[in-house]
Amino acid sequence: MKEFKAESKRLMELMINSIYTNKEIFLREIISNASDAIDKLHYKSLTDKKIKVNKEDFAIIIKADKQNRILTISDNGIGMTKDELESNLGTIAKSGSFDFKEQNKKKDNIDIIGQFGVGFYSAFMVASKVEVISKSYGTDESYSWISSGIEGYTIKKSDKKDYGTDIILTIKDGEEYDNYLEDYEIKNLIKKYSDYITYPIKMEVTEDKKTKLETINSLVPLWRRNKKDISEEEYNTFYSDKFFDYEKPLSHIHTKAEGTLEYNSLIYIPSHASYDYYSKEYEKGLQLYSNGVLIMEKCADLVPDYFSFVKGVVDSPDLSLNISRETLQQNRVLITIANNIEKHIKNELISMQNEKREDYLKFWEAFGLQIKAGIYSSYGMDKDKLQDLLMFHSSKENKLVTLKEYFDNNKDEKSIYYACGSSIDQIKTLPQVEALISKDKDVLLCSSYLDEFVFKVMSKYEDKEFKNVCSDNIDLETEDDKEELKKLNDNSQDLLTLMKDGLDVKDVKFTSRLKNHPVCLSTTGEISVEMEKVMNAMPTNESINAQKILEINYHHPIVQKLQDLYKNDKEELKKYSKVLYAQARLIEGLPIDNPTEIANLVCDILVK
Ligand code: ADP
Repeated sequence: MKEFKAESKRLMELMINSIYTNKEIFLREIISNASDAIDKLHYKSLTDKKIKVNKEDFAIIIKADKQNRILTISDNGIGMTKDELESNLGTIAKSGSFDFKEQNKKKDNIDIIGQFGVGFYSAFMVASKVEVISKSYGTDESYSWISSGIEGYTIKKSDKKDYGTDIILTIKDGEEYDNYLEDYEIKNLIKKYSDYITYPIKMEVTEDKKTKLETINSLVPLWRRNKKDISEEEYNTFYSDKFFDYEKPLSHIHTKAEGTLEYNSLIYIPSHASYDYYSKEYEKGLQLYSNGVLIMEKCADLVPDYFSFVKGVVDSPDLSLNISRETLQQNRVLITIANNIEKHIKNELISMQNEKREDYLKFWEAFGLQIKAGIYSSYGMDKDKLQDLLMFHSSKENKLVTLKEYFDNNKDEKSIYYACGSSIDQIKTLPQVEALISKDKDVLLCSSYLDEFVFKVMSKYEDKEFKNVCSDNIDLETEDDKEELKKLNDNSQDLLTLMKDGLDVKDVKFTSRLKNHPVCLSTTGEISVEMEKVMNAMPTNESINAQKILEINYHHPIVQKLQDLYKNDKEELKKYSKVLYAQARLIEGLPIDNPTEIANLVCDILVK
């Protein structure tokens, strides 16, 4: 007897001792494997002339032997060699749909079963013994794989005549399992979970002492059926079954195109990002069928990167089966389908935004970053397509709003105001932001590192520019204010120059934009403080420095103090400058280069 790999063992243990109530899904899993196996042979036969199979013969056959408690599921698909039996069924790591280790860290055990198509091992939820007899197409030998649980499995030669696979389950004792041997129940399960399987699922039934095969499923894949005949539940079951997602999708887009170009597509928008979505491992793409035959598992060319989160299928008789990876990109049919799909997704998202805001907010939380990345990485070229999908936190509304909503709510403003930081609460406390909010201005509070880069590449929405309220050219003062300020700054040139000496800033100036705070940092030029932080956090050697301006609130009593010091004690003034600058950096969340020096200076001032 051979042992299972450690992870397989754990999953198996889970299955055998499962208290999961939805044990019936085992049949769906086995049928879906059988269908995949037939797909593989079908596809091979279409591209390899040497393989001679009759399409009409493909079938999945189910037999229930109540007396001996045996349920058999047979297929005439591609089958497995001895090595394949060993590697496919001996270790769970082979299973593409299930990353047991990854998920096990986060979720409890019962959840796991519900969340995934756990595949073949789910048979152990209902069977005390599982035998798999398989003959790989084109080989002479067949093998039998047998296991009664975690102790391990054995493989021995068998005498199966035809290619394909038989899964033979010895159903566990106990009333709760009896259903899985009843024709009526089995038919129900096939209808419920596997109706869309494109090969006939036949059951052996006995009528008047004669046995015959009855086809149970309706054979037409879901995406080819009429929208009006499909229930929400069917759409959702199909989704979870096919794309291994335990959470309901936010919506689906089912289209049937007829005319010069014929195709059916069924696209889903998931409600959450899969654990690997924002990693390099994630592969985008839609399943591609030609007349019901799967020709590609993930056709990446069908969806743009910024919509890479969608799942779905495309089926077109206008695609040749021999389509290869290289020609796909130049394939006119495919390009047209891709363009249509992109439009459909965009429209669906916009209508969700308008009509189902709750759902849209869920979408935004999961995939907003991807949309922003889409605008940024195209250097703004895709901005027209994507900008209306964007959402930001409005200080006035205190919730996420679209740019259009912000625009409509603030018609009298010259610009679109935003501020960046690490969290909404932190940004609200920035002196510049606090001052604007107190003047009843609406500021977009941006806590994602990408936000400002997105605004930079967009530069405008409609005719209004994006303006960082922490930049030096915010221009919100009244003419009188400006006049007074200019005078003060001009008259204080010597004082300000002295203060600037020894500080790492481009300028020091008085400002009227602050409410209570004595100082703030603003920037001039392309790089803001937030951008400096983001870029310096990236793994490059280059260090980026925003051009900073120390602004001093001219309504604040500190101004008088500074003026006195300028007259009486220039050395002390320099110390004050350093402390004020350090304060401004702290508020912005920037590090202080010389913390000990600053701490000592503060103490000096305190003891005076
Ligand atoms: P998954 O189907 O998610 O890959 P499973 O645990 O259900 O995981 O199956 C593991 C593998 O065993 C499949 O990927 C397939 O290669 C093989 N397999 C399972 N059932 C069959 C079958 N009926 N015919 C041929 N191969 C099969």
